[in-house]
Amino acid sequence: MTDQYVVAGHPVEHSQSPFIHAEFARQTGQSLHYGRLLCPIDGFETTLREFARGSSAGPALGCNVTTPFKFEALHLCSSSSARAALAGAANTLRFDASGWYADNTDGAGLICDIEKGAGVALAGRRILLVGAGGAAAGVLGPLLASRPALLVVANRSLAKAQALVERHRGAAKAGPVLLRAAGLGDCGGAFDVIVNATATSLQGTAAPVDPAVLAPGALALDLMYGPLAAPFLAWARDHGAVGRDGLGMLVEQAAAAFHLWRGVRPETASVLAKLRRRLAGGAA
Ligand code: NAP
Repeated sequence: MTDQYVVAGHPVEHSQSPFIHAEFARQTGQSLHYGRLLCPIDGFETTLREFARGSSAGPALGCNVTTPFKFEALHLCSSSSARAALAGAANTLRFDASGWYADNTDGAGLICDIEKGAGVALAGRRILLVGAGGAAAGVLGPLLASRPALLVVANRSLAKAQALVERHRGAAKAGPVLLRAAGLGDCGGAFDVIVNATATSLQGTAAPVDPAVLAPGALALDLMYGPLAAPFLAWARDHGAVGRDGLGMLVEQAAAAFHLWRGVRPETASVLAKLRRRLAGGAA
């Protein structure tokens, strides 16, 4: 019998999370199995509850949740972390005896990757967060907590950016951070850090904002990774910015989830290096 975890979503076949968690388990000497759980679009709850009952393979102790179920996942839980409640979305669930607990580790993963991985301190910076979906919701609170001077949330549907900003008014005041919503063509001046949290790279479409948003030497980070992130990284480079993909964030958010489940914090740099080699087609 082995403790069971999965990444639940639609689709999940290309998820790198099983590789990452297998590496974390090996590194920390934890005995667990981490797989993929493909959930029908209208059958997330039923499929997840079935998994949570456990099987002859072992007890189910938790899961990661990915697109498009992060909002629904929070509502299936009886308790949550403050950051998941603020985001209104969960990417990590722990199945406790007393009920399901929701957390959102996306923002912590992003901040760790920007500040430690890319070496860019966010305090006092001008940040443009592009997108207002599940990923943007998860990272906005932690971005505000890192105390930038200005944070603009720009989205194709302005109303969604405005709603996200309104929900985070209190967190912005605590900074204090100047926080506002904008349309994609109305972001304002140049920014030091741009985070593309839209699905444009996934769709193979162009960067969703004008290059004028990039201050010279800005960090332009796309949450996508692998070959699909390449056009955005080239766009950043061609306009004098430093491009970064979402692979570091992926590994860091996974490490925070692993810590929540197992009480052990794995080392991430070697796992990220292995993952980069694996995605480049080399040996892991
Ligand atoms: P989502 O909830 O479906 O949100 C999609 C967002 O993209 C919305 O803001 C949407 O705008 C925008 N969008 C979609 N098509 C667009 C287009 N053609 N032009 C401009 N904007 C467009 O998805 P999500 O869960 O937030 O995920 C977003 C991306 O982040 C995905 O590629 C996902 O794989 C990635 N991600 C990576 C990590 C990581 O660890 N690296 C973690 C989480 C997510 P509207 O609101 O106007 O529709």
